[in-house]
Amino acid sequence: MEKKYRICTKCLMDTTVPDIHFDQNGECNFCKDYTNRITKDLYYDSSGQTGLENLIAKIKKSGAKNDYDCLIGISGGVDSTYVAYLVKRKYGLRPLAVHLDNGWNSELSVANVEQIVKRLDIDLYTHVLDWEKFKDLQISFLKSSISNIEIPTDHAIWAVLVRTAAEKKIKYIISGNNIVTESIMPESWLYGSKDARLITGIHRQFGHFNYKSFPKLSTLNYIDYLLLRGIRWIPILNYVPYVKQEAKQIITEELGWRDYGGKHYESIFTRFFHAYYLPRKFGYDLRRSYLSALILSGQMTREEALHEVEAPPAPAEQLQEDRDYVIKKFGLSTEEFEKIMMNPTKLFSDYPNNDALWHSLDWFVKAARQRIIRVK
Ligand SMILES: [Zn+2]
Repeated sequence: MEKKYRICTKCLMDTTVPDIHFDQNGECNFCKDYTNRITKDLYYDSSGQTGLENLIAKIKKSGAKNDYDCLIGISGGVDSTYVAYLVKRKYGLRPLAVHLDNGWNSELSVANVEQIVKRLDIDLYTHVLDWEKFKDLQISFLKSSISNIEIPTDHAIWAVLVRTAAEKKIKYIISGNNIVTESIMPESWLYGSKDARLITGIHRQFGHFNYKSFPKLSTLNYIDYLLLRGIRWIPILNYVPYVKQEAKQIITEELGWRDYGGKHYESIFTRFFHAYYLPRKFGYDLRRSYLSALILSGQMTREEALHEVEAPPAPAEQLQEDRDYVIKKFGLSTEEFEKIMMNPTKLFSDYPNNDALWHSLDWFVKAARQRIIRVK
């Protein structure tokens, strides 16, 4: 029997999430998780501020003899751009910026990244993936019919950051991950990107090349880099009041940043993933999760968000254009592509993965989080 459609009375999450549930007031489990997380992982009360100041002093001291005292990832999107601004201009740190070129950057994002590092006078290291091999890996994910076909890119970004930090002996990675705009993401929608075994498994099944040089982190690497070598990850936007509109205004005025018209739309593949692939193949609209986080953090009313989500994720011509671009860049025929889109959807658990191992390492993740993030 078809499940009856239902939407949370507080946010925008609805029964397109397979495992959503509601309480007697009609509020969903994601709203509850959100409340838990902001009390645990947000630090911008006064003790958090002192903690942050102490932390900044510590970062400066630890890197005093180095060319750089911290590492930041830069995509050209709002979050990472604002992090670059905060780190350099507001806190006076000496970051090295790392950018991953996976072959899909839009012209605007390239222009934004150039502008940002120039205006802030930050050194930039761009890691360029081997396109022919990365293409083979991305097509493998498309053929696997799992929802999160961005896993290879997300994994590579994190791996390049951690490896660069280790190589250059930089202890702190300051990232733009944050609770107020991205904390609501059902695992049933998107399985996370830390699982190197899933990447290898899917590539082996559907790919043609061996891609040894792909930036990967095994579970052992995580333990080695994060626990033994003590590289620390600081989601700095959880330590400051992060209001997206204000951040946009600041980076536009101060850094000449230009808007893409959608979260994570700086990459053409990501836009295709959000606006075309997920809605068409899975019926998932990730805007529900981003907008819900904005509602719960008080940056938008539910009515405004509902209005926004009613419009299509991108104009029809844009969707068609992106689809055609993806087909051409992958060198697929339209028939091949349509066949992939029509294939039954799969779960990550249909492929080799380390989910059970990660769950058994829960204590480690928690311990690492305590050690890495908590500064109060
Ligand atoms: Zn809710």
